[in-house]
Amino acid sequence: MSILGYLDMALDAPEDHPGQHESFLRIAQSNAEKLLSLVSDLLSVSSDSMGVHPQRMDLMDLIGMCVASAGPRAKSRGVDIVNEATRSLWLTADPGRVTQVLDNLLSNAIKYSRPGDTVTLRAWETGEAVCFSVTDTGIGIAEEDLPKIFTRYFRSDSVRESSIPGVGLGLGIVKRIVENHGGSVTANSRPNLGSTFTVTLPKGAADREAEGSVGPSL
Ligand code: ADP
Repeated sequence: MSILGYLDMALDAPEDHPGQHESFLRIAQSNAEKLLSLVSDLLSVSSDSMGVHPQRMDLMDLIGMCVASAGPRAKSRGVDIVNEATRSLWLTADPGRVTQVLDNLLSNAIKYSRPGDTVTLRAWETGEAVCFSVTDTGIGIAEEDLPKIFTRYFRSDSVRESSIPGVGLGLGIVKRIVENHGGSVTANSRPNLGSTFTVTLPKGAADREAEGSVGPSL
């Protein structure tokens, strides 16, 4: 409704809204971006889109691309992104799915930060696994909410009452993708101080077709 309403106004005669056309188009664009992210989340939870098709990939390249594409959004919110993942880390994983994980974690880190906050990406390896983390100095998560954040449609009360957009699907998708790779994801957080999400992926994930319906954990 908001996209169509603002596009209608942008199409009105210029004298009806003098000097406002660009701002109408920008609002329509920002709402179209939110709609795109909602649709892609909903498509991801549909049963046939969660297969894993691994290939050799360098995590550093993927993180670099995700950081670059999140840059404009972070800048417009006054949030700094620091990318410390500057060393090649090779693994066998599905690059499209790992990008989805990174995009979700990075977009949350920016969304739940305040102007002046910082988001830091790190990556390292252990014997059999490659790990990465997304840390923000944002609003944080209450202790009682932490066990629930990976559940489908969960949003904390404070976030629900705020104007921060979202439907509560992103972290469930993250968990499912990571577990389909044979990996794990954890969250640590302190209210008002920030959060760290850490993903561990085995260096060699198995090829895996999409499963049937989405289970109760997501
Ligand atoms: P959404 O962001 O669409 O609400 P998610 O599944 O990505 O859904 O996240 C679920 C909830 O977890 C969010 O609504 C928010 O309460 C909390 N959350 C996730 N990431 C962060 C973060 N980086 N900082 C603070 N809260 C977060």
